[in-house]
Amino acid sequence: MYGVITCPRCGTVQGVDLSHAQAACVRCRNKIDVTRAVVHFSTDSPQELADAVRRFAEMKKGQTVPFPAPRGTAGARKNKETIESAIAELGRSRGEFTARDIAARLEVGGDELEEIIAALLGAGLMYEAGPGTYRAA
Ligand SMILES: [Zn+2]
Repeated sequence: MYGVITCPRCGTVQGVDLSHAQAACVRCRNKIDVTRAVVHFSTDSPQELADAVRRFAEMKKGQTVPFPAPRGTAGARKNKETIESAIAELGRSRGEFTARDIAARLEVGGDELEEIIAALLGAGLMYEAGPGTYRAA
């Protein structure tokens, strides 16, 4: 049986053979105690294991980027740079702006707009200047 685990020292997601008590981290060579590691996913198939490692590594990467991951649909391919420059530009041209201005500039709406606003506020790239109005930080 194989499992997907995260190195407790360097955070690298990797696949290990769960029948072994220890595994060496592929990146930092830390000895990982497999019996105590959190197994995110387990499988008998090496191919499935490889897919799962990729998936969890991607997921982890997504968490460190404070913006919603692209969903592959039209209009949802907003990357961090696009969003940041749009906010900086709104700040320069208008001073204060609203969620509607952000929506129009980025051509997003609904949940995605809310996620972006929450991410921007969370990342300190803009702040609430008043009820429903924002300023670039
Ligand atoms: Zn490591």
